[in-house]
Amino acid sequence: MNATKMRHILDTIADLFPDAHCELNHRNPFELTIAVLLSAQCTDETVNKVTATLFEKYRTPEDYLSVPLEELENDIRRIGLFRNKAANIQKLCRILIDRFGGEVPREHAALTELPGVGRKTANVVVSNAFDVPAIAVDTHVERVSKRLAIAKPDDSVLEVEKRLMKLVPRDEWTITHHRLIFFGRYHCKAQNPKCDVCPLLDVCPEGKKRMKATVRAEDRAKKARAQTGKAGSARNADANGAKSQPTRKRQEQAAAKGGADA
Ligand code: SF4
Repeated sequence: MNATKMRHILDTIADLFPDAHCELNHRNPFELTIAVLLSAQCTDETVNKVTATLFEKYRTPEDYLSVPLEELENDIRRIGLFRNKAANIQKLCRILIDRFGGEVPREHAALTELPGVGRKTANVVVSNAFDVPAIAVDTHVERVSKRLAIAKPDDSVLEVEKRLMKLVPRDEWTITHHRLIFFGRYHCKAQNPKCDVCPLLDVCPEGKKRMKATVRAEDRAKKARAQTGKAGSARNADANGAKSQPTRKRQEQAAAKGGADA
């Protein structure tokens, strides 16, 4: 991937999704940290439904520790892995109170020490809550980067992140993360990417491969339809021929009879 091609990709996704943003609802770094922790293997939509009431009931780390674990589990039970996540939230809140004065730390390294917070979550928190440029690589960012050959097919998540950091100007890291997510979520979807109307088809190896496969499949379908049509016509002709024989016979008999009458 060269710089010109990368610029073309960045400008195109910027045109497509100028307002891309973090879709997890939150009012402060603490809520964002909880929301991102909850979002592992779960859609943002479900997380937002749960946090709409969760964030009213629990506003501080102390609030989460003031209830039995079972109650917190129950409050987030619509979310996958809720038992694990509830336990991590309480452990995280304990550490925030004991080591960070009840605040979410700004440092990436400190964040990744918190239970349930990995590199991706830390990147989301530092970039969205503290304006520190970062590219969090989630499933959409990884898929799109690989399809567009920004990254190699067998790159790890960390390798994808490093490639993006190298190719994207630092001051565009955070917005590029959001735009790649929007692009992957709404356009270059996992199952049915919109390659036929994609403005990046000219630079996308995966898209070109898919379009060729589609054309081949259409050709095959056309041929199959043509064969079926021919076979159908032949069958109809046979059937018509078979039907017309007795008719002809009747006509001949009628003519013979007419002749005799005359
Ligand atoms: S051409 Fe297809 S695979 Fe490539 S980026 Fe566009 S939608 Fe995704």
